[in-house]
Amino acid sequence: MKFATRAVRAGITPDPTTGSIVPPIYQTATYVLDEIGQDKGFDYTRSSNPTRAVLEANLAALENGKFAVSYASGMSAVDAVARTLSAGDHVVSTDDVYGGVTRLYDQILSRFGLEITYVDTTNPENIAEAIRPNTKMLWLETPTNPLLKITDLEVAAQIAKEHGLLTAVDSTFATPYLLRPLDLGIDLVIHSTTKYLSGHNQIIGGIVVTNDQDLFEQLKFIQKSVGAVSSPFDCWLTLLGLKTLHLRMEKHSTNGLAVAQFLEAHPRVKQVIYPGLPSHPGHEVAKRQMKAFSGMITFELEGDVQTGINFMNAVELCSLAESLGAVETMVTHPATMTHTSVPREDRYARGLTDSLVRLSVGIEDLEDIIADLDQALSLT
Ligand code: PLP
Repeated sequence: MKFATRAVRAGITPDPTTGSIVPPIYQTATYVLDEIGQDKGFDYTRSSNPTRAVLEANLAALENGKFAVSYASGMSAVDAVARTLSAGDHVVSTDDVYGGVTRLYDQILSRFGLEITYVDTTNPENIAEAIRPNTKMLWLETPTNPLLKITDLEVAAQIAKEHGLLTAVDSTFATPYLLRPLDLGIDLVIHSTTKYLSGHNQIIGGIVVTNDQDLFEQLKFIQKSVGAVSSPFDCWLTLLGLKTLHLRMEKHSTNGLAVAQFLEAHPRVKQVIYPGLPSHPGHEVAKRQMKAFSGMITFELEGDVQTGINFMNAVELCSLAESLGAVETMVTHPATMTHTSVPREDRYARGLTDSLVRLSVGIEDLEDIIADLDQALSLT
């Protein structure tokens, strides 16, 4: 089946008891046995749940994977992958990963003996140089949050394989419609389903997809032991969102490219980072490995921190919100929203300047989005 058909249909069959075309929400903690040893494939919802199983089958199919495990959040999915490692193991990671991943590794997992080195994985040589005898995993994110750096997954997977490393990609910004890391030799794909996959700002969730049965069984065991499960209702809402993933990603991508071109030509804008623009250093790799370029844009205004604040307070249609990847256009100002606790020099070292803005372009009418950005820019 082609992608659009899989998005609507994969893993979904009419409910055997009623014929319901939409999978029921199995809102249950446990399942009654006919007799000892005779369950119907489910015993306790921490281990598995029929609504969750449908979501897992659907997302596995979208990633061209065999197995998926659905989690309570993107972060619990990231944490589950880390728990396949042991104390003393070392991870090489993309430097511009989502801040929550850095916080998890640096402030929590390091206390349990996991080591991590952040490198600019856009240059494959940096990956090879960072590998040590105890390195076990290469953790990648592409495009990254928030600087939209692009890593060549085929090249990175090749280096990792030569060194016997597990490879994991946080593909939240790309979605399986635009990028399928398993096809490029990656072992594990992670998403915050909170974002494009559910798509409507309606849930918090995460998923890990793999073709490796051993890894899948480890993840299932960890989930059963830890309990970071997604609720049946959240799984059901995510499934509804996924049915239009292909349509939404087309619109996010066409709107995203047009907004990026508008911003690049605007005199109040100093720099635009968007993988779909030829000015982006990762444009050629992105063009090769992605179907289109998604709706995430990061741009720098001419000015200082107050310019950023002025812009944020001037937008009317765009929502000031910390999330991304939903139908509504949302804007974030890292200096005053997500990175307020990071000292200015550390923020600058990460490339997060005072007037940097992250824009998650929604699927509203393009003219309305551009008109709002234009009037807000005129007030900066
Ligand atoms: N990965 C990326 C790239 C993200 O942007 C986020 C959240 O913003 C996460 C993981 C964490 O996901 P969640 O908020 O669903 O826990």
